Amino acid sequence: MKKIDIKSFTLEELTHELKEQGLAGFRARQIYQWIHEKLADSFDDMTNLSKELRKTLSETYELITLQIVDVRISEVDQTRKYLFQLPDGHVIESVLMKYQYGYSVCISSQVGCRMGCRFCASTLEGLERNLRPSEMLDQIYQIQKSLGQRISHVVVMGSGEPLDNYENLLRFLFLLTNENGLNISQRNITVSTCGIEPNIRKLAQEHLQITLALSLHAPNDQVRKKLMPIANQYKLEDILDACQEYFKETGRRVTFEYSLVRGINDNLEEAKQLTALLKHSHGHVNLIPVNPIRERDYVQSGQKEIQAFKLYLEKNGIHVTIRREMGRDIGGACGQLRKSYLEQKKEG
Ligand code: SAH
Repeated sequence: MKKIDIKSFTLEELTHELKEQGLAGFRARQIYQWIHEKLADSFDDMTNLSKELRKTLSETYELITLQIVDVRISEVDQTRKYLFQLPDGHVIESVLMKYQYGYSVCISSQVGCRMGCRFCASTLEGLERNLRPSEMLDQIYQIQKSLGQRISHVVVMGSGEPLDNYENLLRFLFLLTNENGLNISQRNITVSTCGIEPNIRKLAQEHLQITLALSLHAPNDQVRKKLMPIANQYKLEDILDACQEYFKETGRRVTFEYSLVRGINDNLEEAKQLTALLKHSHGHVNLIPVNPIRERDYVQSGQKEIQAFKLYLEKNGIHVTIRREMGRDIGGACGQLRKSYLEQKKEG
C-alpha cells in the first residue's frame, strides 16, 4: 500500500484523520508541530510520542523529506543554491538569499516546466511533474535547518509555474503561514507567474495578502510572443486586467518583472509603451538584466541601456527597481544548476 503524505495535511485534516484511528485531538497538534515547527525528518524524532505510536504512524504515513545533493555558495554575495533530491529520484533546486531584512528562500513549484519561456533554463526539457505541498515546504524546512537561521521570506520564483500547480500551491501557502508551523507572514511571500489569466483571477478571490509578481518582459503582445509562448494563449490586455482585479481584491500592489534582453525589448520605444501600459496599474516594475543561458543566444542589455530604460520609466511616474543579480557565479538563473546536474549524470 502506498503510504500517505502526512506533511501535506492541514492540522484540521490531520486531526480528523487521526481521530478515525482512535487518537485524541491533542496528538494531532503534537504531530503537526513536530512536522511543521520543529521540522522533524522522521517519526522517530517525535520523542513525546510512544514508540508504538511512532511505529504505527510510520506504517501508514510517509514523512516527505528532501535530500541535499549539492550546495553551492556564492563567493560574491553568500547566496546559496541547493540541489535537492525528491523521494522519487527527481532533482529540483532552491536558492537562499540574504538581505538586510532577513533570509529569503526561492523555491521551485514543479519539476521542470511546460511554459516554454525562451530565455529560461527550467523549461528546456519540459514538465516532469507537479510538486506536492510537502515538497514545496520541505525546500524551506531543509534550508532553515542547514542554515540554523529563521527563514522570514519566501518567493515562489524558482523552476515551474506556480499557477499551473494551483491547488498544491494554495495548500502550501496555507501550511507555510499557519501559526503551528513556520508562521511566515503572507506579506513576506511572493508568487510569480508568467500570466495564466484565469488563475490570477482565482487567486484574487482567495483574498490573501501575498504579493503577486507578473513576468511581463514585453510592452506588447508581439514582442511578448517572441519570448513567451503563453502570450499566444492570453492577451496582455486581459492579463493586466486580471492583475488589476488582484490589486482591487487584495489591496496588494503587483510587481511587474521585466527581463531586459539586448535588442529584443530594451529600447526607448519599448520603455514608452511600457509606461503607457502600466500607468494606471498601481504596480511597480522590477528590471532584471537577463541571465544568459548556454542554450540560447540572448544577451544582456548594456548598463547604459538599462539605466536609460529605468530613467524613462521613472521620469514618467512608474516606480522602478533594478533587480540585484545574485549568485551569478553559481548558476543563479532558474533551472541552471539542475540542468547541469542532469547533463553530468548523463555523461557519467
Ligand atoms: N513561472 C513563473 C516563476 C518562475 S521564473 C514565472 O514565469 O514568473 C521566475 C522569474 O525569472 C520570471 O520572471 C522569469 O521570467 C525569470 N527568468 C527565468 N529565466 C531567466 C533568465 N535566464 N534571465 C532573467 N530572468 C529569467
